[in-house]
Amino acid sequence: MVDFRNLDEEALKAWVVAHGEKAFRAKQLYEWIVKGVVSFDEMLNLSKAFREMLSAEGYLDNFHIVEAHTAQDGTIKVLGRLHDGNLVESVFMTYKHGHSVCVSTQVGCKMGCSFCASTIGGVTRNLTAGEYLGQIYALQALTGKRVNHVVLMGSGEPLDNYDETLRFIKLSTDERGLNLSGRSITLSTCGLADEIKKLAEEHLQITLAISLHNPFETERQTIMPITKRYSIAAVLEAVDVYIEKTGRRVTFEYALIAGVNDSDAHAEKLGQLLKGKLVHVNLIPVNAVAEKNYAPTASDKIFRFKSILSDKYKITTTIRRELGSDINAACGQLRAKHLKPNTNDIEIKNLNVFEGE
Ligand code: SF4
Repeated sequence: MVDFRNLDEEALKAWVVAHGEKAFRAKQLYEWIVKGVVSFDEMLNLSKAFREMLSAEGYLDNFHIVEAHTAQDGTIKVLGRLHDGNLVESVFMTYKHGHSVCVSTQVGCKMGCSFCASTIGGVTRNLTAGEYLGQIYALQALTGKRVNHVVLMGSGEPLDNYDETLRFIKLSTDERGLNLSGRSITLSTCGLADEIKKLAEEHLQITLAISLHNPFETERQTIMPITKRYSIAAVLEAVDVYIEKTGRRVTFEYALIAGVNDSDAHAEKLGQLLKGKLVHVNLIPVNAVAEKNYAPTASDKIFRFKSILSDKYKITTTIRRELGSDINAACGQLRAKHLKPNTNDIEIKNLNVFEGE
């Protein structure tokens, strides 16, 4: 079965012609697909026979929302079922500049970050670019709002799924498709230095965000095992290459965890590492993860951390508004609830779309 959302217009044209239809039908089909329709029956400018063939050969609904929770601040977190039955999460957020979707790139994740629920069951498989898009289409349909910003920051490591991530960027910036601007796509990585250098060669206008979370090598290793493969120095070197090749400012994400990485010494070391670089630090009060026993840093300490970076080291630093904390909006938490303990089996009971607040 063909996932039609996973094909660009050229591939659709080849498919349509190979199935005995005129090439211009691909354009009509593509226009419907990017509208996010889930049924071929809606494509009323296509003949019934063609619609029946499409329906027999493939599908559209590659991210079917089975559960949705709306937080008090309007953030919506959904759990969606992929065509093969796997479950992934997406989050819809509203900012003053528009609407953003946090997209998952893999079912689970193998990177093993200790503060993250997505990695609890390991990685099951990569998502396709069409499944990245499916999350956006589904959330646009659910909310009736147009998404104008995407963060690849859901479950999965986007650079561990490099080709599909790149294909998604190409598809989603197609002016006949979602028509996102490159600058409105943020790719968040735990720091795969080789892939960052490879990405630099693509000369994209996207925003690269590095999840750093600790400036000390040995401490970072304990919360982010990827540090054993790519040291902090290797990540910073790759970031330098990225900035040089793209001219784009790089964001460093720093989730503050109470008593773990929020001391003055951490702020000082972070400042020393990033001083003078074309970077921006985004401080994130971490969501509590029941399975991990982590708590967020108190707000006075967050401001102190920020002032060391911005006042002393002159690094642009922001504190991310904590969206959707009352619905476990951090990646992997909703899906983890449906994983039976110690197995990869999914248990779903009474899943309906509802407003949690
Ligand atoms: S934080 Fe990101 S890279 Fe780390 S385990 Fe979670 S999903 Fe994977």
